[in-house]
Amino acid sequence: MTTLLRGRLLSFKRAPQSLDDTDSYTYESDGGLLIENGIIAAAGPYAEVKVKASVDVAEVDHRPHLILPGFIDMHLHFPQMQVIASYAANLLEWLNTYTFPEECRFVESAHAERIATHFYDELIRHGTTTAVAYCSVHKTSADAFFAEAMRRDMRMVGGKVMMDRNAPQGLLDTPEMGYDETRQVIADWHGKGRNHVAITPRFAITSTPEQMEATAALAREFPDLHIQTHLSENHDEIKFTGELYPDAIDYTDIYARYGLLGPKSLLGHAIHLSEREADAMSEAGAVAVHCPTSNLFLGSGLFPLKALARREKPVRIGVATDIGGGSSYSMLRTMDEAYKIQQLLGERLNPLESYYYMTLGNAEALSLADKIGTLEPGTDADLTILNAAATPAMALKMEVVKTLPEELFLLQTMGDDRAIVETYVAGKAAKSVLN
Ligand SMILES: [Zn+2]
Repeated sequence: MTTLLRGRLLSFKRAPQSLDDTDSYTYESDGGLLIENGIIAAAGPYAEVKVKASVDVAEVDHRPHLILPGFIDMHLHFPQMQVIASYAANLLEWLNTYTFPEECRFVESAHAERIATHFYDELIRHGTTTAVAYCSVHKTSADAFFAEAMRRDMRMVGGKVMMDRNAPQGLLDTPEMGYDETRQVIADWHGKGRNHVAITPRFAITSTPEQMEATAALAREFPDLHIQTHLSENHDEIKFTGELYPDAIDYTDIYARYGLLGPKSLLGHAIHLSEREADAMSEAGAVAVHCPTSNLFLGSGLFPLKALARREKPVRIGVATDIGGGSSYSMLRTMDEAYKIQQLLGERLNPLESYYYMTLGNAEALSLADKIGTLEPGTDADLTILNAAATPAMALKMEVVKTLPEELFLLQTMGDDRAIVETYVAGKAAKSVLN
């Protein structure tokens, strides 16, 4: 099956150094994108791509809208769709009052399956085609998560959470259970469809040293898998973590000691890192995942994105919603808040950088840039189509917008799911067919 899309194509080649860095991306004002069997077969000027298409190709005209690689969300919690918008003073109160009780419900397959349906609907509605998710501690939740991803042919990363202390009984496994069930999730789902299983200890507070040992064993046995956990989100959390692991130099060192700090490690938040911790992250190639709406919502702190990126030893960075501590499924809303956090820190985050992070940047942070995050031929045809005049107020502002960066900034500042005209998953329109 072949499809030819027409519209304005935007795809990054590397991180933009400034607003004038036009070499960092390709832009086609009248572009064509040819899709064959879910893969991008060609992209470029419409007239050139049209010649390569068969005469019976199905053509979709998306002009004047932008065609971008699908957005990537590097960190969110699938069982927290009914936790979002919960009123709490801080991270630990929010976890104990709302999050842990809600996650207990995912022991029931019917509940997990129902939420999984809503979860993928919401990602697609917001133009997100790949996400990295925490399931609950229950294998049932991971089964529901991956089964639905496979049904929709989405490239997803996820893992059964491991946690064996400091949570309600209904949310605890044991070192052995966490190890065995994670192995079973890997056997059942990794590499099936477009699924990637991640080793997922929730964070140091909810794992005993024995469970961290079990996690270390998994990381040794499956070195290609992503590892995801949380790091240095909140001062009380950091203090408690230090009490639980008194031998560690600092929070980051706990994960390093168990072999969990490497180029596939995705560390949610990482807001309050010391210089030593940032060095350790950089040397390991580990990724700090910035979750701006969550950090503001829970009052966790201001992530020094620009400062970490320009260090002599730079830290790799991804961006994410962190639903349900985060307050929006939209990567546009996410980057709007990321921009404001940098403003408060006296830094500039330009719109080209924002769109790089949402697409190629996150793909690179996942070591998946050969598959997603660009419009390069040979990669997955996961796309988002953006309309910068999606609302009356946006349309009015668009009347005076003159440049591509201005348009991108308008979309980031005022846009949300209404600005997503269509989302393509493996070459198929997925948003317009939602109920
Ligand atoms: Zn999180």
